Amino acid sequence: MQPGASPEIHEIAQKARRKKKGTKALALRPKKARWGDADKIRDLPVEGGWSQSRQRGASTKATDAVEGEKARRCSQILVATSGVANELRDALSKAKADFGAMAEAMSLCEVTSAKKGDVGWLDGKDVVDDATESLLPLTARLELMQKPLKPGDVSVVQSHLGYHVVKIDDIMRDLSLVTKKRKNAIDKGITLEEACAGKTYAMVTMGCQMNAADSERLEGGLLDLGMTEAPEAKDADVIILNTCSIREHAEAKVYSYVGPQAKRKRDGEDVTIVVAGCVAQQEGARLLRRAPEVDVVMGPQYANRLADVLEGVMLRGEQVEATSASYGALDHGGSTTSRRSSDVVAWVNVAHGCNERCTYCVVPNTRGVEQSRTPEDILREIDSLGRSGYREVTLLGQNVDAYGRDMRPRRTFSDLLEAVADVARKHDNMRVRFVTSHPRYITESVIDTVASNDDVLMPVFHIPAQSGDDEVLRLMGRGYTSERYLRVVSAIRERLPDATVSGDFIVGCPGESDEAFEKTLALMDAVVFDACMTAAYSPRPGTPMAHWDGASVAFETLGVELKRLKNVDEARESVHARFKVLAQQKAKANKHDDDAEWDSVVIAKREALEALDRAEKAPPSAFHPLSGVGPAQCPDEVKEERLQRINEKADAHALRRSERYVGRIEPVLVESRNTRVPTQVVGRTRGNKLVFFEGDAEELVGRTVDVRIIEANTFSLVGERVS
Ligand code: SAM
Ligand code: SF4
Repeated sequence: MQPGASPEIHEIAQKARRKKKGTKALALRPKKARWGDADKIRDLPVEGGWSQSRQRGASTKATDAVEGEKARRCSQILVATSGVANELRDALSKAKADFGAMAEAMSLCEVTSAKKGDVGWLDGKDVVDDATESLLPLTARLELMQKPLKPGDVSVVQSHLGYHVVKIDDIMRDLSLVTKKRKNAIDKGITLEEACAGKTYAMVTMGCQMNAADSERLEGGLLDLGMTEAPEAKDADVIILNTCSIREHAEAKVYSYVGPQAKRKRDGEDVTIVVAGCVAQQEGARLLRRAPEVDVVMGPQYANRLADVLEGVMLRGEQVEATSASYGALDHGGSTTSRRSSDVVAWVNVAHGCNERCTYCVVPNTRGVEQSRTPEDILREIDSLGRSGYREVTLLGQNVDAYGRDMRPRRTFSDLLEAVADVARKHDNMRVRFVTSHPRYITESVIDTVASNDDVLMPVFHIPAQSGDDEVLRLMGRGYTSERYLRVVSAIRERLPDATVSGDFIVGCPGESDEAFEKTLALMDAVVFDACMTAAYSPRPGTPMAHWDGASVAFETLGVELKRLKNVDEARESVHARFKVLAQQKAKANKHDDDAEWDSVVIAKREALEALDRAEKAPPSAFHPLSGVGPAQCPDEVKEERLQRINEKADAHALRRSERYVGRIEPVLVESRNTRVPTQVVGRTRGNKLVFFEGDAEELVGRTVDVRIIEANTFSLVGERVS
């Protein structure tokens, strides 16, 4: 049966396949490429060397068929009878079947069948084009273009070739009507500030603290341009969606959010849609093609440069793709002033990007290489926050312990912490925290610096462990063992017995056996974390682990140690050499040919060599030629069960750690009113635990007061004010 095909579809496929065998000469080869082939759209003119932009509609020449549409990208299955076509359309419309696999199996058009049915981009022009004619003749094409269809819809049209079951894969829309008035504003002498003045914006932020900090900078950029926040996102003139791609469904979420905004634009509203962040970086121009209403896709490294990015959109009516990986995220002498979401606590980036290569993680692909900000920039920002009345800063980096290794002369994170502590003291003992520490890089010196500056550096360590099993940690490319992790925690607790220690864990990575998972639970028992962020492993595009399919077992069967090999050629040689040795051993042992053990060796050799062919074609982000070869993926139900178990333990430990506060008097920095109980305020202990207590927000926000803790919950404490 075809992958994903229901029995109903399977039966139709059988029927059509029988016909396919008996049908001849329907396949004509196209003589030249079709005008709308998607590859053409990828050739965007490069503007200014740092981003790509294009005139809307410049790459399309079609006249509209359905109003506002330029072209449709389609796939087809050509069949001989209307009965089969209609049955297939109905079945494909309701069932979750793989259209491409069905086209390969049963389409009578050999050209498109070889490409999973792909016909390419089609327009509504009443002009015969030889290449398209051989695939979907003019009458059928025009009929198709006049039907009101959306991506995913399946329809049937007829031609002299037969019955075309066509799926709409994508639609290219003409947005020039909406953007026409923006075109050439620059030639009329209009400045960006003038074009933006009086406009409103809405910002939607997904994901981690890094994104929260980027959003604050983006908002600062919008305010600098004279915009104001819209009371409601649905009415905003500029929409910024700051996206996260750490977990699955991220891309789908973005498209579903963009949908209603895109409709506003298609309905003629002059709305500017900006997709920023990690999904934008990952999807790039593909996002502009799939959602042509989007004006800008911009990677996280452009957060300081919103004005540059918007110039092409607002003054020239272009679409802008700002995803160049080499573009620096640093301040470039004058960073945008962030619009902070709090007046009390603030994020301060110390480094952007990441140089690690954890095999599951998309961050190095989306946020680029590690770039440390200069100590001068960081200290200036903290000093200015202190002068503006901020009471706490959190230093941000994917791996704060790597701070300064890209600088000449090299700097260290502990030196930076010392300098930050000095600035914080000038501002009435402002609190300082930092995330994220990496178990491989965190040093005794960082722990000592926190301990010896405990008036301002808070005793809080967020150190993602990810797993408690050494083999899984090796597969993840984390560069430490569980023993090293436990040593780090011991060192922290020796110097700072009351320190808060939190971690991240991923369950259900390929290669995580039941025993390996038990070791993760054992590590948690050994540490007893104050808090844990847990997640089921989600295969991310462009990461090595996402490509693993169990081929490493074949190498194990042969006795070839993958981790010792440097490249695919060396691996192939090892496979052949080991096979030869095993064959000689078999010959010596004089075993029979039908020996099952030998069969498994022969199969393993074939599978290992096939895996190496695949490894050679692994995505460019696969940092090692063999990183695309690994254990099998974990079934979803195993991931879910493990996630539930780890969460139960994490919650129990968090509660246990909370309970130690009961009866203590803690200095709590008040951050805001409790929105659920307005007579209460909410703040944090030095150890970062949330505390709720009765108090007047007007009087207390921004102050540190003593609070007696009277109740402990898993994620928060309840107290009463004593000073
Ligand atoms: N730099 C930090 C570190 O070294 O662990 C973490 C940064 S990452 C943005 C935050 C967390 O997301 C990770 O610690 C990991 O637990 C989780 N994560 C990353 N990739 C994931 C994936 N593919 N599936 C599930 N969780 C993932
Ligand atoms: Fe991702 Fe690893 Fe870098 Fe953290 S250290 S951002 S998990 S690659």
